[in-house]
Amino acid sequence: MATPQQLQLLAPLSGVLIPMDQVPDPVFANRVIGDGLCIDPTSSALCAPLAGVISNVQASGHAVSITDDHGVQVLLHIGLDTVNLGGQGFTRLVEEGQRVAAGETLIEFDADYIALHARSLMTLMLVVSGEPFTWTAAQTGLVETGQPLLSLTSAHAIREEQVAPTGEVIFSDVLKLPNPNGLHARPAAVFAQAAKVFSAKIYLHKQQAEANAKSLVAIMALQTALGDSVQVSAVGEDAQAAISTLSRLLAEGCGESVTALPVTEPCESVEPEVLTVLRGVCASPGSALGQVMQITEPSLDIKESGAGVKTEQEALTNALIEAQMALQHLRDTAGGSAQEEIFKAHQELLDDPSLLDQAQALIAEGKSAAFAWRAATESTAALFRQSASPLLVERAADLADVCLRVLKLILGLHDPVLTLPHGTILIADQLTPSQTAGLDVTKVLGIVTVGGGATSHVAILARAFALPAICGVPAQVLALANGSTVLLDADRGELQLNPDPLAIEQLQARRELQRLRHQHDHAQATLAACTRDGHYIEVTANVSSLSETEQAMGLGGAGVGLLRSEFLYLDRNHAPTFDEQVSTYSAIAQAVGPSHNLVVRTLDVGGDKPLAYVPMDRETNPFLGLRGIRLCLERPQLLREQFRAILGSVGLTRLHIMLPMVTQISELHLARQMLEEEAQALNLVERPKLGIMIEVPAAALMADVFAPYVDFFSIGTNDLTQYTLAMDRDHPRLASQADSFHPSVLRLIAMTVKGAHAHGKWVGVCGAMASERLAVPLLLGLGVDELSVSVPQIPAIKAAVREVDLLDCKAIAEQVQSLESAEEVREALRLYHEATVDISPVLEN
Ligand code: PEP
Ligand code: MG
Repeated sequence: MATPQQLQLLAPLSGVLIPMDQVPDPVFANRVIGDGLCIDPTSSALCAPLAGVISNVQASGHAVSITDDHGVQVLLHIGLDTVNLGGQGFTRLVEEGQRVAAGETLIEFDADYIALHARSLMTLMLVVSGEPFTWTAAQTGLVETGQPLLSLTSAHAIREEQVAPTGEVIFSDVLKLPNPNGLHARPAAVFAQAAKVFSAKIYLHKQQAEANAKSLVAIMALQTALGDSVQVSAVGEDAQAAISTLSRLLAEGCGESVTALPVTEPCESVEPEVLTVLRGVCASPGSALGQVMQITEPSLDIKESGAGVKTEQEALTNALIEAQMALQHLRDTAGGSAQEEIFKAHQELLDDPSLLDQAQALIAEGKSAAFAWRAATESTAALFRQSASPLLVERAADLADVCLRVLKLILGLHDPVLTLPHGTILIADQLTPSQTAGLDVTKVLGIVTVGGGATSHVAILARAFALPAICGVPAQVLALANGSTVLLDADRGELQLNPDPLAIEQLQARRELQRLRHQHDHAQATLAACTRDGHYIEVTANVSSLSETEQAMGLGGAGVGLLRSEFLYLDRNHAPTFDEQVSTYSAIAQAVGPSHNLVVRTLDVGGDKPLAYVPMDRETNPFLGLRGIRLCLERPQLLREQFRAILGSVGLTRLHIMLPMVTQISELHLARQMLEEEAQALNLVERPKLGIMIEVPAAALMADVFAPYVDFFSIGTNDLTQYTLAMDRDHPRLASQADSFHPSVLRLIAMTVKGAHAHGKWVGVCGAMASERLAVPLLLGLGVDELSVSVPQIPAIKAAVREVDLLDCKAIAEQVQSLESAEEVREALRLYHEATVDISPVLEN
């Protein structure tokens, strides 16, 4: 053991110190890897915080560890989820085993590229060998590269077990690593942490190499990858327990969401070919087998200095006019309202006065039009990206799209006409909305992108075209050769490379059945949704616009179960006028008609859904902050005006008003009082029904207390699931776990129904769960009266209702509530479906 030494750790780069607790990644925030500090960088070179030897530098260049002569190990990790970039944006300047001086540059990185393609640029410096430290500088504010920040005493050094354990060495089975990027920092930390619980001496083996399983750095130094065969060995008293715990952990992905790979038998056996799967997030459901076509944007040659202020001003003005015209043409020829809305939003961006002012100011300083326009749009996009709101982050992509459109016009570049072969799966780093909207959907079968998110415009467009799409896929996908065969299973968020014939056959059979089912369901869309034993269920629609409402009614919808009113006004810089609101609601009410329900949800903004014209404070936990009804009650004028506008539709339809995110009974009472006052002020005789969304566990648990004061409940399973399971609904790594089929959510739904029915009130479900065919028998069995679903799903959900008996549904709903996990619930429902549902009418089509 080394003698105690005082050691200074220097700032590895310049930037702003961020408290560790605020790092938006639980593995870092909870110090699973080690304690240390986080810097949001303003420089782009990572320097050594101490002298020592490079004990590991990840092949992808985003992380490096240094071990000093006394065994202190420091890990530097640039950005969050940067392992997915596959090395792009990083230049490694050091090799493993190399000795470095404090302050020496280790890695250079392209901050713009990383900010655009990874979750965050926040960079961590962690003392992974565990020595405690004290701060020698302020813990917040700006720091400069090389500034001393932490002081630690290296008394701990590398701790090998004091007494070497004795006994037989036990080996685990050989396992194939299911992690898309191998055991990089996060899964390696989870594994090392689990190994430390045991007193046994434990090693992780990869081919001839081995690593101390309790050392994060040693595991990272193994440089493992997806599908690598690994084995755990242990010796000591609790070796057997260690082997079984750690093998299970490896098979499950060490805390990462993974697809299990087959376990290989003994070491000597021939390695089966690894089935390579790249995982992302489902942006648009469906599946397709096709050939890769990579889409790349050419790099633009932009000169900084201009050819005179007047010339450059003219160049910008002309390009802006041309861009406006091109967007107008795209709007006019758009195949649907989703595309039209996006191009309209792009036109508004082109008109944005602050962008124009910034660009003009730069031109006045002598810059070229292209340089000035790019600088103006990029600085605004950077502000969007820094926002805590995923929606604003997505809007940065729209700005980049608009930026490029104008730049190409200034530079006189024309988009090459893409000749796509039939059966194309488009692969791109980031597909712009313009590129997506211009796709020849007769040739494209699916879309895969590295960037983007499930709420991006590309995702919206893909859904509008019914094209399967996944996003957030590792950057390795960009290396796939054009023409290679891939199987895109967007429902599972997977891209299978070199799919085997069996997988292809199963996919084709599944798609054929889906096609027949789709035809059958549409042919019967106008029939009532009555179970086989005669129980009527209201199948209504979730809508965000008039055109969606019209579409829903055309597809056999029994009204609107959720009008997300905030979406009517989301992409705007200014508030809608009162008259505008009245006419929007009345038009939708007329489309629904007097014999159906229209449920208008009051503004559900705040936190993750910002409204540009409602200034809100930045929040640490937006989902737990001033959202929905909480925000509206803080700004009563906003709510009162919306009530008045909605009341303009009394008499046109069966009008319902619904309050989002209700937690306290007082919120309901306050809102009802305001509604009553507004109705009286308008001298209205008739009142709309007033209900609440059940999205917060508190409301579900107290449904029997709320029920006497409402006319109805509608369960928002998206939020109810995130609040019950404490899992962010948009978190890409938790997507597969944040499942509304979890028995805890089901029990809350059952409680809500019980509380409502005891007081004679109806209950709907308007979360995404209601749009899943598999959920239909379950929700019916739980006693739900209405299913409000996404518009294209109306025929399918109605057909699913007609396929079941309510009595059977009750039995299965009762049974699955006592299962242990969402997977078990889904499996039980699948078996139930296979056993009870007759698909012959579909096949006879
Ligand atoms: C829900 O939370 O389930 C819901 C329908 O509301 P939103 O998805 O709009 O938050
Ligand atoms: Mg909600």
